[in-house]
Amino acid sequence: MFREMRRKNQKLSQEVCERILHRATSGVLAVSGDDGYPYAVPLSFAFADGCLYFHVAKSGHKLDALRRNPKASFCIIDQDQVVPQEYTTYFRSVIAFGSVRILEKEEDTRRGLDHLANKYCTNETRESREREIGALSKALYVVEMRIAHLTGKQAKELVEERTRCAPTEKKTSAKG
Ligand SMILES: Cc1cc2nc3c(=O)[nH]c(=O)nc-3n(C[C@H](O)[C@H](O)[C@H](O)COP(=O)(O)OP(=O)(O)OC[C@H]3O[C@@H](n4cnc5c(N)ncnc54)[C@H](O)[C@@H]3O)c2cc1C
Repeated sequence: MFREMRRKNQKLSQEVCERILHRATSGVLAVSGDDGYPYAVPLSFAFADGCLYFHVAKSGHKLDALRRNPKASFCIIDQDQVVPQEYTTYFRSVIAFGSVRILEKEEDTRRGLDHLANKYCTNETRESREREIGALSKALYVVEMRIAHLTGKQAKELVEERTRCAPTEKKTSAKG
């Protein structure tokens, strides 16, 4: 059902895609918006156990859209280095497709908020974190998107650079 990437040599491994999901601090969630218009909205997120976690207000455009159609995709730009003299950009990006679930149970909401706090608020004290999560868990929903398909792509120049920089294999003599 999901498409193959046409330029396979530019495809990133699943491991690299996941590394990008861990280090990125935001991305753009694309949902089926109002009147057939796609709605692409920037969000913070956390990645854990094959899922993306978002915290969202309890009403609004994206929540209405997700209630109508839980299928969504999430795009992250990891690198966008404009190289004017080459009329190009050295890019690296990831797209995750999946279905979302608006978490209703308190323990699920808590789990999602813990993932977000682990990523964004590592230096905060335990007390401050508990206070904030306690307040937030009532004021918002956590949305969980289970990733069904994950792809990453980089500019061909980055592929070439990697090939150039890769250590050359040591030649072993026939005599061992
Ligand atoms: C880097 C970044 C991280 C963010 N992280 C979060 C997050 O973790 N959680 C969260 O809830 N929100 C986050 N936001 C804000 C988010 O983009 C939305 O504005 C917010 O979630 C409200 O969405 P909504 O569909 O409920 O808004 P609504 O007010 O219901 O949207 C109504 C209309 O307002 C316009 N609109 C809404 N948001 C934006 C926007 N960001 N830019 C331009 N037009 C807009 C659109 O035309 C939309 O159709 C983040 C924004 C940025 C840029």
